[in-house]
Amino acid sequence: MEIWHPFTQHGLNEDIIEIDTSYDEFLITKSGEKIIDGISSWWVNTLGHKNPNISKAIKNETGKLHQIIFAGFVHNPAKNVAKNLSKFLPNDYSHIFFSDSGSTSVEVALKMAVGYHFNNGKNKSKIVAMEHSYHGDTFGGMSSGARSVFNEPYTKMLFDVEHIPYPAPGKEEITIDVYKKLLQKEGDKISAIILEPLVLGSGGMFFYKPFVIEELYKLSKEYDVIFALDEVMTGFGRTGTMFAFNQTNIIPDIICLSKGLTGGSIPLAATVCKKEIYDAYLSNDKAKMFFHSSSYTANPIACAAANANLEIWQNTDVLADVKRINNFYHSQFERFKNHPVQNIRALGDIFAFEVEHSGNNYTSNTGTKLYNFYRKNGILLRPLGNTIYVMPPYCIKEESLNKIFDTVEASLQKCL
Ligand SMILES: *Cc1c(COP(=O)(O)O)cnc(C)c1O
Repeated sequence: MEIWHPFTQHGLNEDIIEIDTSYDEFLITKSGEKIIDGISSWWVNTLGHKNPNISKAIKNETGKLHQIIFAGFVHNPAKNVAKNLSKFLPNDYSHIFFSDSGSTSVEVALKMAVGYHFNNGKNKSKIVAMEHSYHGDTFGGMSSGARSVFNEPYTKMLFDVEHIPYPAPGKEEITIDVYKKLLQKEGDKISAIILEPLVLGSGGMFFYKPFVIEELYKLSKEYDVIFALDEVMTGFGRTGTMFAFNQTNIIPDIICLSKGLTGGSIPLAATVCKKEIYDAYLSNDKAKMFFHSSSYTANPIACAAANANLEIWQNTDVLADVKRINNFYHSQFERFKNHPVQNIRALGDIFAFEVEHSGNNYTSNTGTKLYNFYRKNGILLRPLGNTIYVMPPYCIKEESLNKIFDTVEASLQKCL
């Protein structure tokens, strides 16, 4: 039996690289080659590979407890995640629900929101999301996300979601207006809006302004619509603050966390909600409980990794590194001025631009050509269609950043 890889067209004989070990911003191949991980291994790794404190916490916990049933049982690592995460969140959040991936944290958020209205005796089950958004590859995630080549075979099976336009710079009012009209028309049927805050990741690293989130939140509250933010990618410093919503003056009703929750070491996810949502399920009627579970809910080893990660956030200035990287990005804008690129932008740990002269979609060949060029030069970058982006672990050294940017500049001469 052979391995079927995710987002991989095996028919194109894509080279599959065997990684033996990793540390900091480096992946070391079986043959000893050092690759700079410029995309944090698909956005999960925040602090650097194999962070020693996280490794130690995992090792210690394996000697104590592996998985146990989480209905009717609890353990210290899970209690500590609730306690430690609270330190970074407003008091408005009363409960944390564990699952095991970004997609499941979104499914939980959607089910929580729809069930909230159901338990309150309301027939509100419609979901609103944003154009170009990505919320995972499960059916709820795909339904909420953009309809694209990613999910074309399944289109008919996806449930109906209203997509509001992406609030491109200068076009924010259109988005707000479309949402307002939608609420006026069928606000009594809408249960929740789910958004990737400040940056649409898989959609192409499109940024938008914090005030849009504030306006959409205000409107949602007028119509009793649950406001959920999918912080799976943005959480844990990616946008320059611990959570993207920290750049707004609102407190979303639900937030979804996963990727950076364990620093990128081991799978864990959390859906955090306000008290009014939890309260809608609180009853002496068993039919009103929240019917959801993953077998590996709140895995103790994963919780221990999350606690080690949260301790690092508590005791060190992680965001100073994000700021350092962001400053570096801004120092690089100049060098791309005379190249065929557009929309050079940076937000926190994320740098991106679009290259011209290529198909504007995920399957375009330019992306593959660029990927192979980076790969040959010891850099892991995976362009999204014609969007080239960089999103490294925060421990990345200046030398590695320079190597990434030299290689990206060279790629514009060699591959376009
Ligand atoms: C990655 C991602 C997901 C899906 O997370 P998985 O752990 O891959 O299931 C959901 N939402 C956003 C915004 C993501 O970036």
